Amino acid sequence: MSTAPPAEATHKTVQAKPVSGAKQPANGAAAPASNFIRQIIDADNASAKHGGKVITRFPPEPNGYLHIGHAKSICVNFGIARDYGGVCHLRFDDTNPAKEDVEYEESIKEMVEWLGFSYRDHLFYASNYFDQLYLFAEHFIERGLAYVDSQSAELMRANRGTFEKPGIDSPFRSRTVVENLALFREMRDGKHADGAHVLRLKIDMASPNINLRDPAIYRIRHVAHHRTGSKWCVYPLYDYTHSISDAIERITHSICTLEFEAHRPLYDWVLAKLVEAGKLPAPSPQQIEFARLNLSYTVLSKRKLLELVDTGIVNGWDDPRMMTLAGLRRRGFSPASIRLFAERTGASKAHQWVDMADLERALREDLDTTATRAMAVLDPVKVVIENWPADTTELCSAPAHPHDESRPRREFKLGRELYIEREDFMEVPSKGFFRLVPGGEVRLRYGYIIKCERIEKDADGNIATIFASYDPATKSGTPGGRNVKGAIHWVAAVDGLRAEVRLYDRLFSIENPDAGEGDYKTHLNPNSLRVVQAWLEPSLVAAQIDQSYQFERMGYFTPDRVDSTPSKLVFNRAATLKDGWKPG
Ligand code: ATP
Ligand code: MG
Repeated sequence: MSTAPPAEATHKTVQAKPVSGAKQPANGAAAPASNFIRQIIDADNASAKHGGKVITRFPPEPNGYLHIGHAKSICVNFGIARDYGGVCHLRFDDTNPAKEDVEYEESIKEMVEWLGFSYRDHLFYASNYFDQLYLFAEHFIERGLAYVDSQSAELMRANRGTFEKPGIDSPFRSRTVVENLALFREMRDGKHADGAHVLRLKIDMASPNINLRDPAIYRIRHVAHHRTGSKWCVYPLYDYTHSISDAIERITHSICTLEFEAHRPLYDWVLAKLVEAGKLPAPSPQQIEFARLNLSYTVLSKRKLLELVDTGIVNGWDDPRMMTLAGLRRRGFSPASIRLFAERTGASKAHQWVDMADLERALREDLDTTATRAMAVLDPVKVVIENWPADTTELCSAPAHPHDESRPRREFKLGRELYIEREDFMEVPSKGFFRLVPGGEVRLRYGYIIKCERIEKDADGNIATIFASYDPATKSGTPGGRNVKGAIHWVAAVDGLRAEVRLYDRLFSIENPDAGEGDYKTHLNPNSLRVVQAWLEPSLVAAQIDQSYQFERMGYFTPDRVDSTPSKLVFNRAATLKDGWKPG
């Protein structure tokens, strides 16, 4: 269970500073921040422990979609390999066939690549080592270091003891090598039912570290595996598999999250025994743990993400409110923004809570410099310019990006009828409101100054139409022209595009939904999705999937990769322009 993040610990960003020893990233970006992991690698390189090699790995279980926490692990592992001229393996930790699926595997591969990392020459599967892992298990039996236990799962759990109480030896612990070998082979040959026996290492039932109290390393599962088919009905367990897989691949630094800290003695024990017997080469990989990423206003546990999908609270794994990579991509987060975010959150041993606002900030920082601009009116109210000659239009243009005049300018028409944002008009203006008011003037960006002459309301008292006049001497860019305080965006009726715009917000309305009162699902933000019918400037007809656009004054938007079509445009909002989150 997570606990509520202390207020002062919610926001932790690390300033990037150069590191000695680390190569500059090829893209010329600033060198990554040093951290304790890089210091360990620097020391290993200095002592030539691994001959200067750096091989890391990212080891997902193919039992769910990757989320922002995994992105952090990917960036740490692939980032270190990149910066030290090493390699990072993508290794599927596929030892639990009951929960795994190729659908997950495919999406994991796709997301690693989307994040900008290449795994193709370094793709591995724990299941490729099943033969080897099995032979090593027999080796442990032959050395009297493993035995078949036939206690029930409940008894085994009870006899493991607690933090305060040592474990109790299983009555089967004294089985002979011959008995164990025969039984283990019978297990492999399918002679026993699921749960009838397990193979355990014989380490120390009184160890203060529960992980060393004769951990199970093989269990019976009569389940076909998506890669090995029905070849096996015994499957190796995580700690055993992971340490050996790392060693087989000659991983130098096995970077994982802190919950594995207490497993490290087991990791080291398994490898030391195999190295000692000449079964594996020295030096063994070094397991290094860092704090997992916790993000506010979301949940990251696979079980909970799956529950949100299965109960229909969200529309699938790629729902743009999900902090899965598929969801973030669909929402409009760029890979660069996620890498920037991961880099900034650093790698440390201290428990880490990061504010969702930091993720959005990284997005704005990346997109501000790249995103093509456009005008879009999300809550339209109609304006009629009464002194504009009927049936005439004028071509206006605007830069694609304010700091990059080399890009072709956007063009759009201004005509007698247009739409402006409802909130850009106030019938009874509050102090400091510089946009359109009765009798007042405002500039239409890239167009003219207009003046509100009168308004017309519908039966419900809402403003239906604003009637205005324009000043023909005020075309934007006219030298010496006069100006007014406010400038607003707009879209002309004559060439505007209709679009559905989905305004996404945080899925939960409290910082730590896991630590609030009651079930985390009681803290859903009722306003996490609002759908509006908007008007977009015509340049957006060519908007590309995976491209982000800054709708001037409104935020960052991207075409929905699933639902947007040329005949029905659908855009998603990734983030607003400013950090101004308020609970719904
Ligand atoms: P589960 O154990 O429920 O399957 P998991 O999130 O640990 O979930 P894995 O597929 O085992 O899933 O994760 C792959 C790698 O990603 C692991 O090395 C894990 O430590 C790392 N990882 C997972 N969540 C985070 C996180 N929030 N922050 C950093 N790294 C993470
Ligand atoms: Mg895991």
